[in-house]
Amino acid sequence: MPIPALALTVAALAAAAAADPAPRPPPLPAGEVPPALRLPAGVRPIRGEVSLTLDPAAERYRGRVRYPVVLDAPARVVWLHAEGLEIEEAKVGGRPARAVPAAGGLLGLVPDAPQPPGEATVEVAFAGTIDRVRSRGVYAAAEEGRWYAYTFFEPADARRAFPCFDEPSFKIPWRLSLTVKPGDRAVANTPALREAPDGGGTRVEFAETRPLPSYLVAFVVGPFDVVEAGAGGAARVPVRFVVPRGRGGETRYAASVTARLLDLIEAETGVPYPYEKCDVAVVPRFWGTMEHPGIVALGQPLTLIPPVAETRERRLRYASIAAHELVHHWFGDLVTMAWWDDTWLNESLTSFVDPVITDALEPAWRRTARARAEGRASALAADALAAVKRLREPVGSRHEIEGAFDNAITYDKGAAVAAMYERFLGRAAWRAVLRDHLLAHADRTAASEDFLATLAARSTPALAASLRGFLERPGVPLVRASVRCDARGAAAVVRQERFLASGAPDPAATWAIPLCVRAGAGARVETACALVGGDGPEGELPLPFCPEWLWPNAGGTGYHLTALDAAALPGLWPHLAPAERLALATDASLLARRGDLPVEAALGRVGPLAASDDRLQVEASLELARLAQPEWLGPDDHARWRAFLRETWGPRARSLGWMPRRGEPDDTAALRRLVVPAVADEGEDAPLAGEAAALARRWLADRRSVPAEAAWPALEVAARTGDVALFDGILAAARASRDRTVRARLLAFLGRFERPALADRALGLVASGEEDLRDTSGILRAALAGRETRWRAWALLRGRWDALAPRLRSDEASWLVAQAAGLACDPGRAAEVAAFLRPRAEAFDGAPAALARALEEAGACRAARARNGPAVARFLAR
Ligand SMILES: [Zn+2]
Repeated sequence: MPIPALALTVAALAAAAAADPAPRPPPLPAGEVPPALRLPAGVRPIRGEVSLTLDPAAERYRGRVRYPVVLDAPARVVWLHAEGLEIEEAKVGGRPARAVPAAGGLLGLVPDAPQPPGEATVEVAFAGTIDRVRSRGVYAAAEEGRWYAYTFFEPADARRAFPCFDEPSFKIPWRLSLTVKPGDRAVANTPALREAPDGGGTRVEFAETRPLPSYLVAFVVGPFDVVEAGAGGAARVPVRFVVPRGRGGETRYAASVTARLLDLIEAETGVPYPYEKCDVAVVPRFWGTMEHPGIVALGQPLTLIPPVAETRERRLRYASIAAHELVHHWFGDLVTMAWWDDTWLNESLTSFVDPVITDALEPAWRRTARARAEGRASALAADALAAVKRLREPVGSRHEIEGAFDNAITYDKGAAVAAMYERFLGRAAWRAVLRDHLLAHADRTAASEDFLATLAARSTPALAASLRGFLERPGVPLVRASVRCDARGAAAVVRQERFLASGAPDPAATWAIPLCVRAGAGARVETACALVGGDGPEGELPLPFCPEWLWPNAGGTGYHLTALDAAALPGLWPHLAPAERLALATDASLLARRGDLPVEAALGRVGPLAASDDRLQVEASLELARLAQPEWLGPDDHARWRAFLRETWGPRARSLGWMPRRGEPDDTAALRRLVVPAVADEGEDAPLAGEAAALARRWLADRRSVPAEAAWPALEVAARTGDVALFDGILAAARASRDRTVRARLLAFLGRFERPALADRALGLVASGEEDLRDTSGILRAALAGRETRWRAWALLRGRWDALAPRLRSDEASWLVAQAAGLACDPGRAAEVAAFLRPRAEAFDGAPAALARALEEAGACRAARARNGPAVARFLAR
């Protein structure tokens, strides 16, 4: 009977711990030392067998693992990973083995006598703890009084759930069995093979998986409901949603598109969906979202959309993130990176493909155009820092494993570089490279070298070598192009240098750039592409005629900045395609921040972009305007900035209004969501802000009286200047909501209140501990971002760090310290901010590197303020 047995064990463990307060780990055999990070070569698992007895409501669970392994040589110690687990018994080759835990989540098993080479089995019985604070390993959450258990293992937390060979290169089949209590359901990567009564509960045995690394093993246990959602892919695999009891109705939108996503990914990759089912486990929070094969985890905030809360934004967010996680079933699951230094093979390729899938589902969203422009901008800003990591970055520590998931580089830069090669090779040829990569390494792992070999076979060794440069060199080239027309013909003469935000030179860095330029003379316009540079900073690209104008980033997909000439900008502008204008706006902003382009010339592009009918250009106009660094302007300039916002975007905002209209085009809805809150909030437009406050009050009184499309942005805007009644109304609505998404979003709005007493009350909710920090961290982040609230939030962070830190996961801590480091843009407080955060970041994997980049960015922010402040003031005063 699983539950009483478990309770007994917990009591016994507690008693044992009380009787023997400091058990000393037994020593390793003489001469044996624990590995530093990776398991030593010589022991290879062939298969993993995991059985767990698990009650989500209990504190602990028990389990056994069994691994058939092959030893290359006699072993005195067999090393695997285990962290935070109580080892009850271990055997190697059928004989008892002593368990020796070591730092870094390692476990040595020392058999009585050295284990001879050849096949053997490694068996461990253990007990583990169910995490209720940080959502890692096996974790549990309560929904309306019922407990549900989930798993989150990437990158290195499977070892918290059960002893394992916790590295991606150990890609093995798994046999999982779970014993659960009556009324609980167990769902895992593969279908259940058989269910049998087991001591009052049910033992569920799952089919053996295809080869998987430990980080992709997943299961959920609890009184879930299951919603059938059709079948997808050529094999018509069943798609189902596994949701907390009673929440099935909220999967309406998700259930209507997910099977179709599988069809679309098959069509794009040319490779059938590799697994036998596609369950969507709806996990409590967004960051439980994860690409486990057969049981993809998608957070409640994405997946569960009550009918009254279904907005364009939420449909798009579900579809695009579900597309990302499902594309991983090909890039990551079927073909897995061999080690975390090649995480780009998982994340960059997936991020490159996922918007294409979202576009195929709903072209009106124009997801690819937006993702390419946004991702390129995010990547260039990060890649301009000296502390940036490389796409292929050596990983030799736990900090570096966590750092391998760097959004701006591993996701955005990787996808942007892939888009550049697609532009150069052509869509069909680049897709063939991706398909070859999948087929060549299916069910196995791959490294960068494998991908480069595939690319070389489909194109040329020179092109593959050029991609190696973008993988292995940090940073981004700045390209200066001029035209040469003489007896030898016409050419674009290209000079390149590494672009660093600090302005520092890096003469050694040059790239072979797959460059595509557009050139025109009169009515004649042509695109020319060539691999340029690589053996030095200068190169030439032949042109078919002598042009009057030249734009060295055809299609805007080049992963380089383009030097801009202020005088030539207005003349060049009309020749550029929409995507090229987006690229130019990004480049102009970075160049002007560094002082390479007069800030007035860059801000001069805001008007033409804002006047465009193209929603993406309007979006770019707002982004480019932020070059004025409004959050740091003094009171007079800030008043002029608000007037500039009202003048530039106000007429459009007022004509769009807050309320959606029936049957309007998607672009109109997207523009409203973008422009109206910006003018009402940042522009402090009195009529629009007043309407927001009225809508917010109406929504709080009656949820059905205001459509969600208008209610959410109105609440967000109204909060900043809201009074105590609005504060109380939002807090009460948050506490009354069973929907975590609604709850966390409403709580985050409290962090925007600027009235000192209300700002303190909001921050008090973070500090008090009476709310879950995973829900209230949004308050802290909103307050840190607010012009009027940021130093209050900082004071809280300083005062309560020791209470907050133990409740943070490494990735959350990295985001938080990086955001707080932005305050170092204030020259008077920069030293204080850095001195406080530096030692505290050390406690979290990946946080020191994230902090170093954020502090460098803050330094560039200070420099840009000092350099551009007077010109920005002139621009705003004109
Ligand atoms: Zn991903």
